[in-house]
Amino acid sequence: MPAEIRTAEILAVGSELLTPHRLDTNSLYLTGRLNELGVQVLAKAAVRDRRPMLREWVRLALSRADLVVTTGGLGPTDDDVTREAVADALGLPLRDDDGILESIRARFRSRGLEMPAINLRQARVIEGATVLANPRGTAPGQWIETGDRVIVLLPGPPRELQPMFEEQVAPRLARRTPPAPLRRRVIKITGRSESHVDEVAQPIYATLGDADVTVETSILASPGLIEIHLEGRGVDPRQIDDLLAAGVERLTAALAPYVFSDDGRALEMVVGDALRAHGWRIAVAESCTAGLVLGRLTDVPGSSAWVVGGVVAYANEVKVQQLGVPAALLQEHGAVSEPVAQAMASGVRERLGADVGLAITGIAGPDGGSPEKPIGTVVIALSGPREIVKTLRFAGDRQMVRTQSVAAALDMVRRAAVSRG
Ligand code: ATP
Repeated sequence: MPAEIRTAEILAVGSELLTPHRLDTNSLYLTGRLNELGVQVLAKAAVRDRRPMLREWVRLALSRADLVVTTGGLGPTDDDVTREAVADALGLPLRDDDGILESIRARFRSRGLEMPAINLRQARVIEGATVLANPRGTAPGQWIETGDRVIVLLPGPPRELQPMFEEQVAPRLARRTPPAPLRRRVIKITGRSESHVDEVAQPIYATLGDADVTVETSILASPGLIEIHLEGRGVDPRQIDDLLAAGVERLTAALAPYVFSDDGRALEMVVGDALRAHGWRIAVAESCTAGLVLGRLTDVPGSSAWVVGGVVAYANEVKVQQLGVPAALLQEHGAVSEPVAQAMASGVRERLGADVGLAITGIAGPDGGSPEKPIGTVVIALSGPREIVKTLRFAGDRQMVRTQSVAAALDMVRRAAVSRG
C-alpha cells in the first residue's frame, strides 16, 4: 500500500508571476481541488525560472510535504526549466520519450507545420515518471513517485492544467488520500460590515461540529460582500453534509435578511432568479455607477428575460431629458438626494416600459463631497412593486464606494422581490 497523501506544497514556476502583470491563479485552483480531496496545502510559492533555485525549492517542498505540485515551465524554450530542476532535485536522469515526441510532431503536422527543433525538450521525461498526456497543448505533465512522496509537474496555461488535473491527477490522488472527505458550504452576505457579521456568527461557530466531524470557519470580506466559509471534515460525507446544513441554517437565521445565498449563487444570479420568478422586468438608471449595475445584472446568462435596459444619467441634463426628472427637483435637492433618486427610478421604469425601476445616484469621490453630503453618500431608489428609497454612506475610495453601491442596489431589488413572497 503506498503511503497516504495528506499534505501538499505548490510551486508556481515562471518569472512573469513575479511581476505585477500575471497573477498565479493556478495555485488557487489547485488549493481548492486539493482541499476537496482532503489534502491540506502547507505552502505555495511563485518561483523564478532559474534551475538551481528551483531545484532548492523542490527539495525543500519535498522535505516537508507528501505531495509537491509544480505548474508552468514545461514549454520548449530555454527558460522552461521545471523538468530539469526537478530531475536535479531527485538526482534522476531525463530520457527522451518517443511517444511524446510523436504526439508533438503530430500536433504540428495537423496544422501543416514542421515541429521546431526546440520542441524536442518537451519530450524529455524524468526516469520513472508517468507521462500525463496534454491533448490541449504540447507540454505533457509528469507524475513521479519518489519514496513515499509524489511530485506532479503540470503545464502553466490554466486551460491545459485544469483538465489534466481533473482527468489524470485527481483520480490518482483519490486512491492515496485519507478517507476523511472535506466538504464546504459558503454563506454570502451583503449590507453588513465584517465586524457585525462576526459578532453574530462567533457564538454560533462554537456550536458547530461534533465528535465525528470537525468544522473550521473563516470569513472573507470584500467591498459589498462577506462570505462565511464552513469546512467540515470527517469520515461519513453524509454526516458532514448534515452538520454543515444545520450550521448554515443557524447562521442564516441569525444573519437574515443580509444572507442572500448559501448555494454558490452570486448576488446578480439571486436577483435574476427572483425577477424571473415574479415575471418582472427591470430597467436601471445609474449616475455614479455609470452602468456597473446593469453590467452585473447582464453577467447572468439568459438575463434578457428580465433586463430591459438602462440609462447612464451622469449629467443632470440626461436625468432631465432622458428620465424626466424635474429640473426644479434637481435645483432644490441636488442630484444626490432621495427625491431625485425616486424620480430617476420611476422615470426609467416608465420610459423603458419595465415593471421595476432601479436608480442610483451618489458621490464616489475623491471630489464633490460636502459636510452634509460627504464622499460615499449614495442614494438608491426602487420603483414599481414597491416605492423604496435609501440614503447610504460608504467608506473607502472611489472604486470601493462604487462596488458597494452596486451591491446595495442589487440587494434592494432582491429584498423587494423576496418580501413579495
Ligand atoms: P507552454 O508550453 O504553453 O509554454 P508551460 O508549462 O511552459 O507551457 P509557462 O510557459 O510557464 O507554461 O506559462 C504559459 C502561460 O500559462 C503563461 O503565459 C500564463 O498565461 C499561464 N500561466 C503560467 N503559470 C500560471 C499560473 N501560475 N497561474 C495562471 N496562469 C499561468
